[in-house]
Amino acid sequence: MNIKLQTLKMRLAEVVDLQRSAALLSWEQQTYMPPGGAKARAEQLATLQGLAHRLFITDEIGGLVKELSNSSEQQWGYDTNEASLIRFVARQHERERKVPSELVAELASTTALAQEAWALARQNDDYPTFQPHLQRVINLTRQQAECFAPYSHLYDPLLDKYEPGMKTSEVQKMFTGMKDELIDLVNKINSRTGVVKNEFLYGDFDIDRQREFGLCIAKKFGYDLDRGRQDETLHPFCTHFSIDDVRITTRFDNGFLPSALFGTMHEVGHALYEQGISPDLDRTGMDTGVSLGVHESQSRLWENLVGRSQSFWMHFFPKLQMVFPEELGEVTQDEFYRAINRCEPSLIRVEADEVTYNLHIIIRFELELELLSGDLHLNDLPGAWREKYKDYLGVAPHNDADGVLQDIHWSIGAIGYFATYTIGNLLSVQLFDCVQTDIIDLEADISKGNFDSLLHWLRENIYCHGSKFTPVELVERVTGDSMDSRPYLNYLQNKYSDIYNL
Ligand code: ZN
Repeated sequence: MNIKLQTLKMRLAEVVDLQRSAALLSWEQQTYMPPGGAKARAEQLATLQGLAHRLFITDEIGGLVKELSNSSEQQWGYDTNEASLIRFVARQHERERKVPSELVAELASTTALAQEAWALARQNDDYPTFQPHLQRVINLTRQQAECFAPYSHLYDPLLDKYEPGMKTSEVQKMFTGMKDELIDLVNKINSRTGVVKNEFLYGDFDIDRQREFGLCIAKKFGYDLDRGRQDETLHPFCTHFSIDDVRITTRFDNGFLPSALFGTMHEVGHALYEQGISPDLDRTGMDTGVSLGVHESQSRLWENLVGRSQSFWMHFFPKLQMVFPEELGEVTQDEFYRAINRCEPSLIRVEADEVTYNLHIIIRFELELELLSGDLHLNDLPGAWREKYKDYLGVAPHNDADGVLQDIHWSIGAIGYFATYTIGNLLSVQLFDCVQTDIIDLEADISKGNFDSLLHWLRENIYCHGSKFTPVELVERVTGDSMDSRPYLNYLQNKYSDIYNL
């Protein structure tokens, strides 16, 4: 083996080990850590992340990448793991060395504390105690973005962190194009009130039975529990410490069945991606999903295109009825299908239906731009939040817990992140269209509770590659096209015209 490549891989493995150890501490903070541990945990995370960053931006790694870049494609060919690794590290190295390690560490400790403050503020509906934390996070995020000057938009470097190559102007154009059509569709659906009933989804659903049923679906999808586990958190997520240790968390609500049911399918979608990455990429940093948008396309694909489809419930509804005979015994499969797809403007993003969901995202994206530019002051954020909800969805929260405090993202410094949820929705349909073309019996398989062909296709075409290609390259390889909102909007129009007889 090429000695320089071998050295590079050794150095990268050390960085990855530190990053994954930090991820493990962060997972533990959200699952089991007592609140008293927050201060020490913030320091531990700052140390680990600062160290990982310092080890990565060294001249040694920079030099190795430079020397290997000169010959990599002639020697190995563009698609190989070797050439991909060199391209990947070159991009990351160029990006990361622009940010001082001290700032990385400061962001890690500030966000670890802000996250605790957020959890408490949300619980007590107390935005004022969270506001100074959020101010610190925004100041540091702005500093971080400024490291990348010159840029056409201050938001570009933040977006690029989660969706490499994507520009703010592209997102603005895409969102502007979608917004009116979505609002129009919501209004049409709203005029058909009473067509879809969902009262039976509210009740008293035993949490142990919910958990068991969710795990049964997870296993059927192909989630390997010898290489994964499920825990409970305030905000559901998926994380991974290696290809063989990919964990999900879930939030259970005994009063509303869909919450944990679809939340589990969603996180399992993320987990299947991570578990399906080629072991050859282990400890290189490429052993993870290529971008948050592509990642989200997979969680949404399993949650919505599979989990909220009629064929899926042909197999699973009789089983769900057996688990909750009192609550669902009298409900038909068709009524259930319509109920879980009911469209209704609401306050909480994670529980939103497929039509209104993207409006929740557009609101957050617009607010982030205003916060970063300084046009919106944090004192005015809760009010601005309410105004936008009224304008786009016709509803407004009565408190901040259901408003500006509902998401964990800003507290953990994930600014520039929200847009990737909508990118994921768009891509989920584009990619699923390709699966349907390639697997003729897909619907029949799904209606029998058999997901092998689907999982196999996704592994071969998407998962195994990890971060070998850029998101744009990957989407082009699979779909032969670039990202487009039209297929997604058509999908919504068709599905909801049918459900609401529009
Ligand atoms: Zn997700």
